[in-house]
Amino acid sequence: MTGRPTPHPSPVTRPFWAACARHELTIQRCGGCSSAVFYPRPVCPVCGSSRLDWVAATGRGTLYSYTVARRATHRRLADRVPYVIAIVELDEGPRLTSTVIGTDPADLAIGVRLQVDFEDDETVSFPVFRVAS
Ligand SMILES: [Zn+2]
Repeated sequence: MTGRPTPHPSPVTRPFWAACARHELTIQRCGGCSSAVFYPRPVCPVCGSSRLDWVAATGRGTLYSYTVARRATHRRLADRVPYVIAIVELDEGPRLTSTVIGTDPADLAIGVRLQVDFEDDETVSFPVFRVAS
């Protein structure tokens, strides 16, 4: 079986996945306290406001932490091993879990600068990261 586990967008996450389909990385910005918010939520985790707007992120960030999966963490990822499971700290502040492609994992290091890219599956575009040039 190929392809990735497919997300099932909810009303809260649907705008995020719709933006990914346009190859745009978006996060939420709180209208109450201006906090940048990710993952998608119905209320701000800082001030509790429900005034969360979707805004474009720069798509740039830093490798905060990572590991290399040498055994698939899901059966649909079996053809991708070894692959990087990365926590990326976006320049806007929030961290998101993704992967880093296009670089030998042995060449990665905490703190390396990353740029978002997108991998298109049959029905979904997934945000992934590449080492920034
Ligand atoms: Zn807030």
